[in-house]
Amino acid sequence: MSDIPTITPPPPRGAPSPTAPTPLQIAIVGAGIGGLSAAVGLRKAGHDVTVYEQSALVTEQGAAIHLAPNANGILRRWGIAAEAFGGNAMARLVEHAADGRVRRDVDLAGANARWQHPWHLVHRATLHMVLQALFTQSGGVVKTKVRVEGVESGTGRVVLEEGEGRGDVVVGADGIYSTTRAGVKDAKLFSSGKAAFRFLIHRHQAEEDPVTAPLVEKRDTLHMWYGEDRRIVMYPCNNNEVLNFVCIHPDAESFATERDEWGKQATLYQLLKVYKDFDPVVKALMSKVAHELYRLQVWQLLDMETLPTWTTGKLVLLGDAAHPFTPHQGQGAGQAIEDAAALTVVLPLGTTPNEVPERLALYERIRYERAHAIQEYSRLAGRDWVNGEPTVDMMAYTNYNFGYDEFDH
Ligand code: FAD
Repeated sequence: MSDIPTITPPPPRGAPSPTAPTPLQIAIVGAGIGGLSAAVGLRKAGHDVTVYEQSALVTEQGAAIHLAPNANGILRRWGIAAEAFGGNAMARLVEHAADGRVRRDVDLAGANARWQHPWHLVHRATLHMVLQALFTQSGGVVKTKVRVEGVESGTGRVVLEEGEGRGDVVVGADGIYSTTRAGVKDAKLFSSGKAAFRFLIHRHQAEEDPVTAPLVEKRDTLHMWYGEDRRIVMYPCNNNEVLNFVCIHPDAESFATERDEWGKQATLYQLLKVYKDFDPVVKALMSKVAHELYRLQVWQLLDMETLPTWTTGKLVLLGDAAHPFTPHQGQGAGQAIEDAAALTVVLPLGTTPNEVPERLALYERIRYERAHAIQEYSRLAGRDWVNGEPTVDMMAYTNYNFGYDEFDH
């Protein structure tokens, strides 16, 4: 990957200079987008960072995600440009009724010109790979296939399945099914009432079919089809070569996922049954599901009680471990990246281990209100329609989410 930027590593540790600040030892649990973003930021600051990841990371998966201006701005400051790894501009939004009629067609050129950074749509696995390479090339360490069993927040001891680690700071970035969360405060997960099918299709296959070709004519476009209690979202990634589908609908018992399981395998039959009343053209598109790109999955969309605090002692939570997101505003990864940036800002090189608890409290003060506000907007944006009309506009809260105080609505 020649496009991967590099971090200038801190000078080698030779004879310590009496004036050189001592880096903190930082242990990060989880190498998701949040954990790896924190790893990149804290390594750039000059700290010694080790990431513990339970999976092998070789088949890191997922479909597409939004990199909205708020997240994109941070990545760009770190030298990561989404265009360099196949990111598409989010240039247009087309909303359809379930029967296919176009309700609204919005050119986002004006809005994009107002925001400070571009809005991109990227493949999660590629972003993941870029972050991982940036971190490891700078001497950062990712220990894979290492499951963390718990953390002692007072001492910074990280309990591994075999052995232990330690940090002046321990970052719990272990996602919605977090183990480290219990070190701060446990919280109940519950169903948001919805589940989502996720899958990818090849754009060229849609273009070659005269029935579906008109729908995929416009590039850099996000389409949504709305039914009362279910919707379909389709947007491109990988230089417009791939189209990503997220199909959100009422949760059913059979879709419940196990702990540590993101999605469970689903069938085209199940998918088309749930969307049987939708436009035959969008169903023809959906039938082109490309299992070789990403197996068709259905995810239960979980929510969580709000934690009263994200930190205690040397332990701090970020990303989905602190505030899991429903996907209705495409901000889950973005908020994890913002958490990572804030953590980096409060822990500059020269921070002493004694100062860590107060710095982590400051991180929480910076991030808590904003992350929870956007989490709530995401819940609102997922509400069912009433009498054929949306209760919340898809673009509501966008300015706030993207880092501006003004509201569109
Ligand atoms: P996560 O992305 O959940 O990362 C947590 C990491 O911690 C994982 O790598 C996990 O293996 C690791 N971990 C968990 N427990 C332990 C432990 N005890 N010890 C060590 N490691 C541990 N969002 C989308 O919008 N579109 C997608 O297609 C999409 N696909 C996804 C696929 C996968 C496999 C995952 C894990 C997440 C996906 N997401 C997707 C969610 C999205 O990436 C996250 O919601 C968001 O980026 C916040 O990330 P996070 O780093 O907080 O948590």
